[in-house]
Amino acid sequence: MFERRWWDDRILSWAMSDESVKVQMFRFVDVLPTLKTHDDIIRHLQEYFDEVDAHLSGAVRLVLEYSQPNTVLGRALALNALSNARRMAEQFIAGTKVEEVLQTVSRIRKQGFAFTLNLLGEAILSEEEADVYQQTYLNLIAGMAPQVNSWPEILQVDSDQQGPIPRVNVSLKLSALYSQFNPTDPLGTADAVKSRLRPIMRQARAHGSYVHVDVEQYAHKSLTTKIFKQVLMEDEFRDFPDVGIVIQAYLPEADRDLRDLLAWVKKRETPIWVRLVKGAYWDYEMVVAKARGWPVPVFRKKWQSDDSFERQTRFLMQNHQWLRPALGSHNLRSLAHAIAWAQMLNVPQSAYEIQMLYGMGGEQAQLFAEMGHRVRIYTPFGESIPGMAYLVRRLLENTSNDSFLRHSFVENISVEDLMMKPTEARTQTPQQPEEPVKSFVNEPHTDFSKADAREAMQQAIDEVAGQFGQEYPLIIKGRIVETQASIESRNPSHKSQIVGTVSAATPDNAADAIQAARDAFRKWSRLKPNYRAEYLELAAAEMRNHRFELAAWEVHECGKPWSEADADVTEAIDFCMYYAAQIRRLSVPQHCNVPGEENAYLYRPRGVVVVIAPWNFPLAILTGMTVAALVTGNTVVMKPAEQSSVTAAKLMEILTNIGIPDGVVNYLPGIGEEIGPELVGSPDVDVIAFTGSRAVGLSINREAAATDDRQRSVKQVITEMGGKNAIIVDADADLDEAVLGVVNSAFSYSGQKCSACSRAIVVEPAYDSFLDRLISATKSLQIGPAELPSTIIGPVIDEDAQCRIQEFIELAKQDCQIKLASSASEFAAEGYYVGPNVFANVDRNSRLAQEEIFGPVLAVINAIDFDEAIEIANDTDYGLTAGVFSRSPANLKRARQELQVGNLYINRDITGALVERHPFGGIKMSGIGSKSGSFDYLKQFMLPINISENTMRRGFAPLTDRQK
Ligand code: NAD
Repeated sequence: MFERRWWDDRILSWAMSDESVKVQMFRFVDVLPTLKTHDDIIRHLQEYFDEVDAHLSGAVRLVLEYSQPNTVLGRALALNALSNARRMAEQFIAGTKVEEVLQTVSRIRKQGFAFTLNLLGEAILSEEEADVYQQTYLNLIAGMAPQVNSWPEILQVDSDQQGPIPRVNVSLKLSALYSQFNPTDPLGTADAVKSRLRPIMRQARAHGSYVHVDVEQYAHKSLTTKIFKQVLMEDEFRDFPDVGIVIQAYLPEADRDLRDLLAWVKKRETPIWVRLVKGAYWDYEMVVAKARGWPVPVFRKKWQSDDSFERQTRFLMQNHQWLRPALGSHNLRSLAHAIAWAQMLNVPQSAYEIQMLYGMGGEQAQLFAEMGHRVRIYTPFGESIPGMAYLVRRLLENTSNDSFLRHSFVENISVEDLMMKPTEARTQTPQQPEEPVKSFVNEPHTDFSKADAREAMQQAIDEVAGQFGQEYPLIIKGRIVETQASIESRNPSHKSQIVGTVSAATPDNAADAIQAARDAFRKWSRLKPNYRAEYLELAAAEMRNHRFELAAWEVHECGKPWSEADADVTEAIDFCMYYAAQIRRLSVPQHCNVPGEENAYLYRPRGVVVVIAPWNFPLAILTGMTVAALVTGNTVVMKPAEQSSVTAAKLMEILTNIGIPDGVVNYLPGIGEEIGPELVGSPDVDVIAFTGSRAVGLSINREAAATDDRQRSVKQVITEMGGKNAIIVDADADLDEAVLGVVNSAFSYSGQKCSACSRAIVVEPAYDSFLDRLISATKSLQIGPAELPSTIIGPVIDEDAQCRIQEFIELAKQDCQIKLASSASEFAAEGYYVGPNVFANVDRNSRLAQEEIFGPVLAVINAIDFDEAIEIANDTDYGLTAGVFSRSPANLKRARQELQVGNLYINRDITGALVERHPFGGIKMSGIGSKSGSFDYLKQFMLPINISENTMRRGFAPLTDRQK
């Protein structure tokens, strides 16, 4: 790639000189293989480069302008783009079919190199796809080994200091051997991966071939290494020497990983190979860690990774009898350092090898081969769609500012600088500016890939199970109030388990609670906002201290799988911290003073707030509405949903423990229909904050509008209601992402999220392949009780919900085509389960496409084009969330402008809104009011007041701030 021919194309040099052009160019290359016609290609080319028009040279602009679809120039340009991209891909990818690959590897060997083959694949989303991945490797080994082994021997590549070594060498990813690879469930994942890995190991052994396990993102590293070790400790494979794994030097943990590996290999008594690389996921790890608020697992500076690589090289050379070094790098300094250590320690030249990527740094590979080293070429092969994604990764790497190849070939950096010791390069690394401190940061979700987090969660689940069956009375004015009637809260995963028994309030109790809140209002409302904010921070701290316990209550009471329950607790913490920060901002009066007159705009609390919450985010939503009311100086009657009243009791415990004065929050569980009229109709209530179904929300709105003579204010109603959310999958969407996004959005927490996707609207050309992959991916989801870490789809909330959803499915079957029916009948005796159901070719006007079902039921709708897709998406009364998967900048622009929803998500899941980052709430019939978790949410709980004062006395007025 660093030959003239390449640069003649000028593509990379052009991209390197301008970051924005580079981004567009690589995005275009990425989408190219999915584009079916020349018109599509031209349209995308124009859309991408339109966005960076100002950065293009005049000539390029002119060509693009005249290359309209259907013109000769347009077609020529499309062909050119396609053939150029193909040629670029061929530089890095060995071919698609085994025959092509054979030709390539034969050429590689003739040039004096060894090879390792790696299958480029689409993301593995289903068990069928994982089977295909495994089968490809089985066929590859069986198909190639007899031929390759019959080729004439090349001593330098086919043997080490002890004799012949395998010629057929494959590299694979363990995450591709199981579609549900999930570090939260290491045991289940390991079983599934091993069952597909063993046959590959067996095949390799039978054919004298070698298997290398690649290591991918950090979250998978521990589990990948564990599975590798476990399989290779099995009697059958314990003496198999032709295996290896990767160590990533960019991880500060790499030193420890390597020491652990050595200790283990000594126990195993058979050596393995270690491919030492710096690591290919640096950008990804940085982005993910920052987005999730997790510690960054990689070194931040390039020199640190280089230094780490050198330390580990030395370790490998010192222990080469056990950990056989394979040095995967293009950095001449790193490799020279390795060779020097090998010489110092008298490690035979053939006892280690150098590995380089196919299509990169060919001259270097040649140089090392000429020096007598065994150089193995990491050779990817596969179809064009994943091939393009791989190409883009390579292009990004080559054009990265840190790339050794770029430095040495393009930027002509001096040999001294290139060969500098990493620790010396340290002083030359520019200091990065410090990031500003933010007043609010989201509470990080738990990283369940860590064993201690899994243990803490499991322990909490067990401990909470030991506390089942307790009674939870009402709490009014700080006092316990027993009632005659009660609600049994059952574990939806195991319906015979009663999680707790909760008192059910009567209308009289409701009136008492309102009175208690009214009595407490005067004092609470006069407390300084900052003090109220501190209460919220205390509540957040309590939740943090009990986060696993709280999540465990949700697992048992609401059937939330681990990560869903964990996310709900963190969201509750976020609401406390965010609203605390917001009230500090809002409590500073806005002044608009002029000489002789001071004007202040400020907020006052409204009074008594009734909070009515749903069960599906049992802690977060209840907490959000409650603490918003509290921090703004109101007092609260807290009415949780019947199904989640025990979790709500835990919130009440927290609020009591932090010392919120009696009567400021009153815990009033009960049956909505029974106490709702009193709560909504009472003249003593000022605000009703409701989240739940549209039917109840609208009835509350209606009833609250009726005024009573005794009322002191017009009631403020804030309602967050349901949705019929759509995801549009465009013709050019990345199906790896679209299928996963739709599956997660439709089926996580069994579709019982207001934001859940219940309609997938797929633009015609993508329809069949999307549907096929969607069905097989959905079939592969694990159904089970929520307390198991393997569970992706748990139960639905209760028997009513189960019957309602099942009835809906039966009804829909009459006029829609069911593509995937799953009753989860194997769990029927145990709990309230409904498996995921997918209907295809659904009529956009059918009940299935119009009504909120609130369960794991997805309607897939076919749209002729993007216009129709938008029309269908908007064709509902609701307007909560929507998503679009598309790689057309123009279509995304239209989606931004035309989709009528409160929350639009582009090329990502449509659930999992985070406080501040994704303020949440719908429009149309999905809600009244501003968004929860937004900077203006709190204003709804307050009255805006303006105070003007004449400050002039006897012709004298103090100076205003501006005059001072
Ligand atoms: P629901 O409407 O049945 O119940 C919500 C709350 O209202 C419960 O506490 C219930 O006891 C109470 N209630 C019921 N009847 C009442 C009445 N007549 N007067 C006063 N209160 C009454 O809803 P749910 O089943 O708990 O939750 C699921 C619904 O909530 C779905 O429609 C979902 O879309 C919606 N939801 C919306 C959002 C959002 O932010 N937009 C968030 C979560 C849930």
